[in-house]
Amino acid sequence: MTRHGRPPSFTKAQRYEVAITYGAVILCQGCGYAIYVKEMQVDHHLAWIDGGPHELLNWQPLCFSCHAKKSAREHKNNAKAKRKATAKAAPEPETSTETEDA
Ligand SMILES: [Zn+2]
Repeated sequence: MTRHGRPPSFTKAQRYEVAITYGAVILCQGCGYAIYVKEMQVDHHLAWIDGGPHELLNWQPLCFSCHAKKSAREHKNNAKAKRKATAKAAPEPETSTETEDA
């Protein structure tokens, strides 16, 4: 069978499939090491919980180690901020200027 005309072009998804299958590498934006696309973790540069948008401009490839460290740091900071907010919201201890009756 002979084919005529132009061969079909590849979609982005198909190209990505080939890259994954054949072990394309990408640079971790945390440590700069080359990692396989297969092992890449996609991170929200500005954490989603902190209002970071879920779109390409806010996504970055990270290795597992960098992603784990960044997430841990973000969780720690959020917990700290939450504690601060809770402390602020709590009622102030009463400071009476009046003298108590003996
Ligand atoms: Zn890394």
